[in-house]
Amino acid sequence: MATKYVYLFSEGNANMRELLGGKGANLAEMTNIGLPVPQGFTITTEACTQYYEDGQKINDEIQAQIMEYIVKMEEITGKKFGDLDNPLLVSVRSGARASMPGMMDTILNLGLNEQVVEVMAQKSNNPRWAWDCYRRFIQMYSDVVMEVGKKYFEQLIDQMKEARGVTQDVELTADDLKELAGQFKAEYKSKIGADFPTDPKEQLMGAIKAVFRSWDNPRANVYRRDNDIPYSWGTAVNVQSMAFGNMGDDCGTGVAFTRNPATGEKKLFGEFLTNAQGEDVVAGVRTPMPIAEMAEKFPEAFAQFEGVCKTLEDHYRDMQDMEFTVEHGKLFMLQTRNGKRTPAAALKIACDLVDEGMIDEKKAVAMIEPRSLDTLLHPQFDAEVLKKTPVIGSALAASPGAASGKIVFTAEDAKEWAARGEKVVLVRLETSPEDIEGMKAAQGILTVRGGMTSHAAVVARGMGTCCVSGCSAIVMDEENKQFELAGKTFHEGDWLSLDGSTGKIYDGAIPTMDASIGGEFGRVMAWCDKY
Ligand code: ADP
Ligand code: MG
Repeated sequence: MATKYVYLFSEGNANMRELLGGKGANLAEMTNIGLPVPQGFTITTEACTQYYEDGQKINDEIQAQIMEYIVKMEEITGKKFGDLDNPLLVSVRSGARASMPGMMDTILNLGLNEQVVEVMAQKSNNPRWAWDCYRRFIQMYSDVVMEVGKKYFEQLIDQMKEARGVTQDVELTADDLKELAGQFKAEYKSKIGADFPTDPKEQLMGAIKAVFRSWDNPRANVYRRDNDIPYSWGTAVNVQSMAFGNMGDDCGTGVAFTRNPATGEKKLFGEFLTNAQGEDVVAGVRTPMPIAEMAEKFPEAFAQFEGVCKTLEDHYRDMQDMEFTVEHGKLFMLQTRNGKRTPAAALKIACDLVDEGMIDEKKAVAMIEPRSLDTLLHPQFDAEVLKKTPVIGSALAASPGAASGKIVFTAEDAKEWAARGEKVVLVRLETSPEDIEGMKAAQGILTVRGGMTSHAAVVARGMGTCCVSGCSAIVMDEENKQFELAGKTFHEGDWLSLDGSTGKIYDGAIPTMDASIGGEFGRVMAWCDKY
């Protein structure tokens, strides 16, 4: 029998992670347990391997299966690619067996072209939404598929905001966004020498190839090397019908953990951004609201979400890290996975799950990565010196531990300085996946923008590196490698200290000491001995 390369979400399950990737397998599992998931299909990791075997081509057989599943998806959703009455818009998402946050690429709102967007703008009575989708799509497609740099589009957005005298993307009107879309297409044409593709199927094949290709990009290769993920695994591709968080003020998008990933506390933890699409939260475009505020402002969607969190924890019996979107008050789940957590949180969560009767002691032991336990001995500041050192700022306690080092402003400098034996603290407006090697070299990371789920925060927690994020009081001058904080100018090479457990920033160097070990450590160690 011919190999099956494509699966509807309803055909998969959580045990098929090798074939469907983590994201695809969990989208399938969530579909099966009845959660609200925008429907779609997953192209297998085997198709990715085949793509590389065929010299980076999607062969006819795989292409035919993809086309067949587009038709199935159109039947399920009642929408059609390129249709003026009821257009199907999709996201094209990577998804490897092991989670590689932010390492590969995603494209949203695929399926739009000039005709579709015009009709969508009229019919929805919401032209701002239609044009916002379109300009995002052109931006992401150009960047991911055609490798026109992101920065050109960001510059155009910044110019538009300046011309309109506004500071936030959400303040741009439908007309502004329409004009931007036109500028984006012109930019595309000047860089690529051809018109932006209008045929949704052509767009789709381009996007799928780009996701396969992103498996081999430099930052993904570095991440894999650090996390022992074999190159041969390949990535799956998920094609999923869009849920829109950017349709107005009763919409939004969020990222949340069922428990606190820094401490393990059993309390929903996360962030929500009104009138936005998913990428905005992680990219730190605007600072999102804490999930507790979502409970006040969107009580109904929040209640749905709390219910889903309980269902997911009961089902997976572990802390979950989720992405979701609210479209006109209705919740859609876009991703779930066992959440990354600090070693301290891992111990607390394992003990709590045993106490809650969710798992047994053996499972608790198995849940803890042995290698992570040594990083539990996070350094702490010498309390005596700390008392005498001025606090110059305070921001989000994004990843615990204490760090003291000389200020550097770029990932390259962090690497170079660390290579010659200097301790450095990396200070950035925000980090992006290209910064990963510099982040590894640094004692600590400080960012001006971005929340607890920003790239810097997520990656730092994974590395066990101290991170303080979202310090908006900093006035950054990257060009001259200096910044201002608390009325003082800090230059490259000046000493700075960060406490990632409290979010406090200190002027100068503070010696660090080893941490003491809490009760949960002993409890888990006793279980280790027992089994
Ligand atoms: P990553 O693996 O980098 O998180 P994702 O594939 O999860 O990339 O997608 C990036 C962002 O786009 C996420 O915030 C996700 O929730 C959002 N997103 C992906 N697909 C959809 C969709 N079908 N509808 C709405 N938002 C989506
Ligand atoms: Mg994601």
